[in-house]
Amino acid sequence: MRLVVKLGTSTLTAGTNRLSPPRLVDLARQLCALREAGHEVILVTSGAMASGREALDYPELPKDVPAKQMLAAIGQPRLMALYQQLFGLYGVGVAQILLTRADLANRRRYLNARNTLAALLAQRLIPIVNENDTVATEEIRVGDNDNLSALVANLVDADTLILLTDQPGLFTADPRRDSSARLVTDVTDSDIPASLWEAAGGTATGLGTGGMITKLQAADLARRSGTMVVIARGGDPDILTHIAAGEKIGTRFHPAVTAIESRKRYILAGGASGCLTVDEGAARALSRGSSLLPVGVAGVEGDFERGDTVRVADPSGREIARGIANYSAADLSRIARRRSDEIDSLLGYNYGDEVIHRNDLVLL
Ligand code: GLU
Repeated sequence: MRLVVKLGTSTLTAGTNRLSPPRLVDLARQLCALREAGHEVILVTSGAMASGREALDYPELPKDVPAKQMLAAIGQPRLMALYQQLFGLYGVGVAQILLTRADLANRRRYLNARNTLAALLAQRLIPIVNENDTVATEEIRVGDNDNLSALVANLVDADTLILLTDQPGLFTADPRRDSSARLVTDVTDSDIPASLWEAAGGTATGLGTGGMITKLQAADLARRSGTMVVIARGGDPDILTHIAAGEKIGTRFHPAVTAIESRKRYILAGGASGCLTVDEGAARALSRGSSLLPVGVAGVEGDFERGDTVRVADPSGREIARGIANYSAADLSRIARRRSDEIDSLLGYNYGDEVIHRNDLVLL
């Protein structure tokens, strides 16, 4: 299973004003155990600013953007150093990925981030993602790590997104104020009911950016791309282990569509910016579920960039598939009909053997 786990500031600090080493050790142990059990794990972490504040010993700072970006710049490497040390105890390597909304909105950058994450997972590392706070201006930032984790779940086609927080899940009302509040266990409706959006309003807690409302937004986004979403309390014993075992814990949002359907929709949505004509052999291979290799490409039409959606036509001109091109039209005109091991010498670089990876291909 491919899991994205989001740790919020309140979880990392165990409700205090500094990162909590015992809490972090405990979570690192569970995350490494999940990886050991064969799952692929991607961590989305907050806590950079909290760590920066701690490093400076809680100075009085203006509440402006430069001050926040400064805190993130100080805290992010400290946070990573801590993770590196803790995961290292279990012999697990980590890698840092810093993203902004702009990286995920642009198709080429989206594809680059996706391929980098896939390469890290193939090395059995745990990628650790945070927003690139020091450069993220208002226009390009996601703004909270709940929504960022949903975008990451979508980026990696995660099976499950786990949002750990200081509450056992989503309640029908604020449990601190309303004794009739009960925990919402399962959300299966195709749209999240309005009553839950209302219940989530205005429950933001101390240090983190998100409250329940950003968790609901994240859940809404992720389940529409085929991901199961669980909101649970980070401090509960072996919480990740229990969730990964499929136990009914916290609030579970069931996927609104299957992952394949969602990927299909994404590919079929934006139209196509070019067409690749493939030979008979490649057309047959595609219909059996293979990726498209340059050797099977007989013709290239249109002006498209790497990451754009293109049509795939058989020799008679009939459209047989659509997919996301790993190479631009200009690159393809040079590598068409050539073997994948020649890509590097023909272009001076390569983005992999495939012109369209089978995961990025929809047969029509
Ligand atoms: N990126 C911020 C940080 O690491 C946290 C954002 C959030 O908590 O949602 O400090």
